[in-house]
Amino acid sequence: MNNETNIPRVVIVVPCYNEQEVLPSTVERLCGILSAIVADGEAAADSRLLLVDDGSRDNTWQLICQHHAADPRVAGIKFAANRGHQNALLAGIDTAVNQLQADAIITIDADLQDDPEAMREMVRLYAAGNEVVMGVRRSRSSDSWFKRTTAQGFYKLMKRLGVNIVYNHADYRLLSRRAAIALQGYNERNMFLRGIVAQMGFRHTTVDYDRTERLAGESKYPLGKMINFAIDGITSFSVKPVRMVFNLGFLSLIIAFLLLIYVLVAYFTHRTVSGWSSLMLSLWFIGGCVLISLGIIGEYIAKIYLETKQRPRYHIDETLL
Ligand code: UDP
Ligand code: MG
Repeated sequence: MNNETNIPRVVIVVPCYNEQEVLPSTVERLCGILSAIVADGEAAADSRLLLVDDGSRDNTWQLICQHHAADPRVAGIKFAANRGHQNALLAGIDTAVNQLQADAIITIDADLQDDPEAMREMVRLYAAGNEVVMGVRRSRSSDSWFKRTTAQGFYKLMKRLGVNIVYNHADYRLLSRRAAIALQGYNERNMFLRGIVAQMGFRHTTVDYDRTERLAGESKYPLGKMINFAIDGITSFSVKPVRMVFNLGFLSLIIAFLLLIYVLVAYFTHRTVSGWSSLMLSLWFIGGCVLISLGIIGEYIAKIYLETKQRPRYHIDETLL
């Protein structure tokens, strides 16, 4: 909090990857909301909009520079290379805490699919004492059938695997300074923010909003990236897949045992066993089990490999603060 007053300094963090089509309208809209919140006396006058350029290859950074020149409330940082959505969010949060002395940090996607009006409610709930305010999508009618189904399947799968995440909450949230500093204590390379924030345990609440369509441009999350993100989320938080490997092995043993009984009976009743088909079948079956198991174990080993290197998550190339 500012020393003299109790009004929080709010920093809105926006990750941007090749967002030149959408950036001008996004900046205008978010600056408008920031002004309104400040005018209502719910955020300090030196609140900021922080745009994180995640190594874009289009004119995103030039646009950020222009907006910074036109409005000093707009700050920017630029990654030297594309490091992904989660790392862009983390860099924004770190910068907001360390350089911009933020009291509350709101993260939102550049395409404004998540209703920015909900920020007002977030700031209010923060003032009421919540350390974390999570935006929850009320409807997904604007998403394609495919996106909706895969995303909802993902949340359900995470729940079944025992990962504590809030249904339909993505990366639209407010973090208090305290929660953001706590987040900095997580040194793992594979940061799955929505999982970590949910299990930190600070006082939290949710705000509902309707998800709309992308303002402009195309999704920066094609299917391949989405699958990687889902695998990362699961293997960063759950060891259940490893247990599933064990159960699968157990099941194979039971099948092998039943097969043994069948073979013995066939042998003693002198019936010819149709060897080829059953042999091929079990060969493929066992082969499949072994490969799946190796794949899952490999995923965890890959994680250990990445964590042990303790590589920096990102490199900032330029800053406009
Ligand atoms: N994004 C990013 N780095 C990436 C991919 C995406 O910073 O490598 C940002 C992107 O600019 C946007 C947010 O992450 O602000 C979410 O991306 P998008 O809206 O394309 O995802 P979708 O809503 O389709 O899941
Ligand atoms: Mg989007």
